[in-house]
Amino acid sequence: MKCAKLINGKIKIIETEKPALNNEKGAIIKVLGCGLCGSDLVKIKHAESQNEDKIVLGHEVVGIIEEINTDIRNFKKGDIVALGHHYPCFKCEKCKNQSYSMCKTFKNSNIFPCGFSEFIKINENHLKYTVYKMSDSLKDEQKALLEPLSCTLRAIRRAGFEYNKDNSKFNSLVIGLGSIGLLMLKGLKAFRVEAFGFDISKERAEFALKEGFSFDENKKYDVVFLTAGSSKAIKTALEKVIDGGKIIVFSSVEDDISGFSNNEIYYRELSIISSYSPEPKDLELSAQLLNNKIVKVDNITTIYTLDNLSKAIDDSFNNKIFKAYIKI
Ligand SMILES: [Zn+2]
Ligand SMILES: [Zn+2]
Repeated sequence: MKCAKLINGKIKIIETEKPALNNEKGAIIKVLGCGLCGSDLVKIKHAESQNEDKIVLGHEVVGIIEEINTDIRNFKKGDIVALGHHYPCFKCEKCKNQSYSMCKTFKNSNIFPCGFSEFIKINENHLKYTVYKMSDSLKDEQKALLEPLSCTLRAIRRAGFEYNKDNSKFNSLVIGLGSIGLLMLKGLKAFRVEAFGFDISKERAEFALKEGFSFDENKKYDVVFLTAGSSKAIKTALEKVIDGGKIIVFSSVEDDISGFSNNEIYYRELSIISSYSPEPKDLELSAQLLNNKIVKVDNITTIYTLDNLSKAIDDSFNNKIFKAYIKI
């Protein structure tokens, strides 16, 4: 089968053996497609040839269950599912502290061999915690947004908001309106938080405006979400957040120097909170919001074929598109 691999810093589509269950509890998924995540881009950019072998590219998978060897959650052959790649142990100190993405099991769990592959193998814990049946009424590239949307939902929860509560007296600003910023805005709307969006790119700000998310430069915001991946955005976040407010750090930055001012955080009593990856219950809520069209995700994705993965990566690095979906 075909599978993407990073070799000497370049993406190659190689021929490799199709994964097999060999009586293990789990499933083989025939991949229909996989989203290209910002974290894949970071991995590609910072890859060093000696550890390229360990890099797993692609985790926003949508596919069909081709073979299954467990009756967990009643999945069966032929089900169309979307999935995430990591699950926590729910037992360790990190898990007890709700830092699920810091759990060792979480970090070490993964799909095999990678999302940009004709088939993948997943285990029983994936089926238990990270796999969701997706509605036929969604396009495959929309189903593949299960995991990225779930990441934003966890960030919204870590900001202190609960789903199904009236959060409308709070307002929020998302800085950085790429695909993840747009999903964050849509997630905030689903949580009934008043949501505004800012981007230095006029084009991106206009796209968000068309989706119903404006920017009011005279306003201060209760919560500011940083999805821009630029340390310059930190200054904007500090300017726009209310005294006593929260800043949610949701992306890495290239030039990771100071950025946040100790005294400003102290004297203004700001809370700086980070959120990295989803926990299983965010995947569950994400499936519910997508399947029931509470979060609508049209026009975010550009479709590429596996042979064009390199182009998808280049276009993403050059901000030519919001999000690439690789049809397998
Ligand atoms: Zn992702
Ligand atoms: Zn754990």
